[in-house]
Parts: sequence; structure tokens; C-alpha cells
Amino acid sequence: MTTDNDVLADFRALSEIGATEAGGVERQAATVNDRLAREWLVDWLRARGFTTRVDRIGNLFGCYEWHPGAPYVLVGSHLDSQPRGGRYDGAYGVLAAAHAACRVHERFAESGDRPAFNVAVVDWFNEEGSRFKPSMMGSAVYTGKMPLHQALAVTDHAGVTVEDALTEIGFLGAEDGPRAAFAAEIHIEQGRILDKEGIQIGLVESTWAAHKYQISVVGEQSHTGSTVMADRQDALLGAARIIVAVRELADRFPEGALHTSAGQLIVHPNSPVVVAREAELHLDLRSSSLDVLHEADEMLNREFAAIEMSTDVRIVKKSAHFWPASEYQPEGVDLARELSGELGLSHRPMQTLAGHDSTNLKDVVPTVMLFVPSVEGISHNEREYTKDEDICTGVDLLTGVVERLCRGDLRQP
Ligand SMILES: [Zn+2]
Repeated sequence: MTTDNDVLADFRALSEIGATEAGGVERQAATVNDRLAREWLVDWLRARGFTTRVDRIGNLFGCYEWHPGAPYVLVGSHLDSQPRGGRYDGAYGVLAAAHAACRVHERFAESGDRPAFNVAVVDWFNEEGSRFKPSMMGSAVYTGKMPLHQALAVTDHAGVTVEDALTEIGFLGAEDGPRAAFAAEIHIEQGRILDKEGIQIGLVESTWAAHKYQISVVGEQSHTGSTVMADRQDALLGAARIIVAVRELADRFPEGALHTSAGQLIVHPNSPVVVAREAELHLDLRSSSLDVLHEADEMLNREFAAIEMSTDVRIVKKSAHFWPASEYQPEGVDLARELSGELGLSHRPMQTLAGHDSTNLKDVVPTVMLFVPSVEGISHNEREYTKDEDICTGVDLLTGVVERLCRGDLRQP
């Protein structure tokens, strides 16, 4: 039986891979540090009798097969991180999944029961979407939402494709992943609700909708000194107006109804004496209400038209990804609620504002999503922190969920 101390010691070991001085990790998808974390997981899994496989988009699976030919309960999250990310985001969910699967295996070995389904621990490739867009790429390909060839052809800033990057780190597989019957994921909340209310477990019922855009603002490159002001087509100025407009958009709705961001800005040629010819921006709008999101999208398009007029630039939408708000299967929420009660854990229903791999999985199989508290809600930050007791409690609950799913206690669609 793996103990709480094993979980905490393993988490410390995993957190050393790509560790930053301020207590976070830097393990962007398909980089050397991502490879090292994956190799660590492969060694951990093989040492405990799991069979490991990698699929064509680099999702890593550690399988226990008790019932040859039966589909799998997929339980996992992601080992990749944001640049200077926190050590809990994703990695906790993968490690918790590994321990939960291991404990379930021990329980079945002791009882002699033969469960209806097998289990696979999963590290979903490129959940973060920082180096390669979009986010949740591995689970999107696995669930058929994104074509494989399209994902493999995505490039990073240096022009390296996903296919080449995965080949380089030795994690481009040649087979399909195991067939899923159910899925489960545990993650830190990344918000402050559980922490503030002193509740141990969040039972995720639904997701917020999200609209992400890649925008290119196209101007005309010119001399910052000699070009008369009236002649300038300053892409950076256009981008600046967009950033402000996106922020102000949120203020036009009731508080908390809409979250907006401009998370990335790339300026060309980015020279101190050149009026920028192009600026690339990544924007995201999120809301629990589809109506709010559509209204915001329309408002934003009107802002774009006004900004094009006032700054003499062109605004080109290069890509847009849309994730509708949607629900997790209520019977999965009920199962997690029941098990939380049995373990004496305080719990509450929640929505997830952030996207997770389970967001994709739940659209193809019944999926259970759990949160543990994040101290002060800090996330995508090196100061991200979850208390040791919450780490361990989450593994206990996830173990129960995985066991029940493997037994087939949840209705299949
Ligand atoms: Zn995450």
C-alpha cells in the first residue's frame, strides 16, 4: 500500500525536475524537462508493474490490465507546465492518479476481485498550450476533437513542429492509446473558493465556456523618428488599444460574469527605432454563460473595427478556438459526493473556470473531476501551493473513485 509519506516524497522528487529558484517548475511541452519528468514517471510506473505506452500525439499511458480486452478507466492530468509555472498544476493530478491506480491494484490483489475495467494512468501531452497552441492538445486528439495531422504540424516560435519536438524527446508513439470506458482527473482548484471556505474537496459539475483568439495586427514598418505622425500605421499602438478594450469589456458585464485577458504579445520587428509592422496577440474570453460570451465576442468585433479606423491598421483573426460551457455527468458527481461522505471529507459543488483534459474526456466518456484547495488561489505562478494534507486527502478520494469506476459502478452511456 502506498502511504501518504510515499505520495509526498514522490511529489517532492517530481517537483525537482525543472525546478525554479522561486519554488516553481519550468517544464513546457516536449522540452528536455518535460522529457525528464516523463522518464521519471515511466520508471515509477514500470517499477510497480504498469505497462507503459505512448500514442501518436505523445500521450503517455501506464496500464494495469486485469481484464484482457476490456476498456480502461483513464485517470490522469499533465506533467507539462507554464513558463515559470507552479509545481502542483497538472503534476499533482498525474502523481495522484499513479498512486490511486497502484492502491486500487493492491486492493484487487488482496480481495481477489476481477474488476470490469482496466486502469491507465495518463500524462496528457501539452495541456498548457504555452509552447504549442492550442492547450489540451493531447486529450483533444485522443477524443477526436482535433485531427492528429493538424496537431503534429503545429509549430513553436522557433518553427519546430510538435512532431519533431516529440521525436526529439523520444515520446512520439506509433499506436493508439487504450480505449476508454470512464475518465477521472484531480487538480488543484487554481481559485480561492475552497481555501476561503475551508472545504477539502470540490466536486466539479460544469465548465465555463471559453473563446480564445490569435490576432494579428498589421501595420507598416517605418522609422520612429522621420515618419510623420499622420503617416504611421503602428501595429503596436493597435495592439495596445486592443489590450485595453479587452480589459474594459469585462467591466461592461456584471462583476464576475466575464473574464478577459490578453496573455501574449509578440512584436515585429521589435526594434527600438522601428514603428512595428505587426503585433501578434493571444486573447481569451471566458464565462459560464454562452450568451455573455457571444455578446462579448460581438462587442469585441465592433471594437476591432473602431481600432482599425483610429490607428490605420488591419486586425486579422488568425485562429479562434471555442469551448462551450458544459456539464460533467451528474452520476459521476454523485459518486464522488458519496465517496467524500464515506471518507468524512467536506465538499461542495463547483464550476471550473480553467480548461482541463477532463473537459475533453467528459464529452466522450463519463468523467469525474475533483479539486483540492489552492492556497490563496495562486496559479500559473511559482508560488502556487497546496497543503500536504490536502494532497493526501485528494489521493484517498481519487483512489475510491478509480476503484468504483473500475468495478463498473457507474452507468456507461
Ligand atoms: Zn493544469
